[in-house]
Amino acid sequence: MARVISITLPKGGVGKTTTAVNLAASFAVFERRTLLIDADPFGACSMSLGFTPENTKGGLYEVFNFVYSMSQVIHRTELTFLDFIPCNVKTGQHEERIMRLSENRTMLRNVMRSLLPHYDYIVIDTPPFLRGLTTNALSCSDTALVPIKSGHFSLEGIDKMFRHFEWIREAANKTLQVEGILQTMYEPHTKVTEITDRELQLRYRKYLLRTTIPKNTHLTEASFYGKPAILFNATSRGTLAYLELARELLERHQAQQAAQTPPEATEQRTA
Ligand code: ATP
Ligand code: MG
Repeated sequence: MARVISITLPKGGVGKTTTAVNLAASFAVFERRTLLIDADPFGACSMSLGFTPENTKGGLYEVFNFVYSMSQVIHRTELTFLDFIPCNVKTGQHEERIMRLSENRTMLRNVMRSLLPHYDYIVIDTPPFLRGLTTNALSCSDTALVPIKSGHFSLEGIDKMFRHFEWIREAANKTLQVEGILQTMYEPHTKVTEITDRELQLRYRKYLLRTTIPKNTHLTEASFYGKPAILFNATSRGTLAYLELARELLERHQAQQAAQTPPEATEQRTA
């Protein structure tokens, strides 16, 4: 069964899409069957992977309108283990409609259920606001990964995000957990980073991921050329950082799984 991870923060430009694309690509490089879902009507994930309205055959918009099923809008990517579902919102009217449809917060959960056995990871990119598609994504996720860029407003966003997690747990998804807080566009030795680090250590220490993503222009260039960073520059600092993030999460998930497996099951497997 897939582990579903939403990438969320109600603040624009903190690295949500960059993280969704490159974390999903890194899971795929480690040969985990991975599905990336673009749940942001802006469609930045699609652009980052080289998909345009012309070369996509439908996405979440059509699924929410019962035109296609989820499996019909799965797109293969250049990476063998990475599949993709675009959002496919082409006009303002489409955007209005998908926002209205996503007021039903169980919409995504219902349509995604049949895909869960086919993947190890499903990564969902969300828009920079909480209502609608973000609430839908969180309602069907095992965990939320929160990217933040150094600076005061990101911290405000985290407070709001954590209050929203509480509400989601009460209203829609009791078992939602926090995968962790990821520092993106990280520039050590600057005043603003120092202040952010101090605040995070003070208030959110237990959620901080070990990996940080450095500020690295190759990540922006890769998305401009419609490729995950690993296929644009396999040795750039940005690429390596996202591989490291995937490794950190894989190790943790394996440890969690081992702790949940009863000893008899392990013995039977090794006998
Ligand atoms: P939105 O909320 O508007 O969807 P977002 O949170 O998804 O934004 P991104 O689109 O991933 O943020 O990133 C914002 C900008 O910062 C983009 O131009 C992206 O290429 C750039 N960027 C992201 N991560 C890095 C990084 N580590 N180093 C340098 N630039 C980065
Ligand atoms: Mg985005």
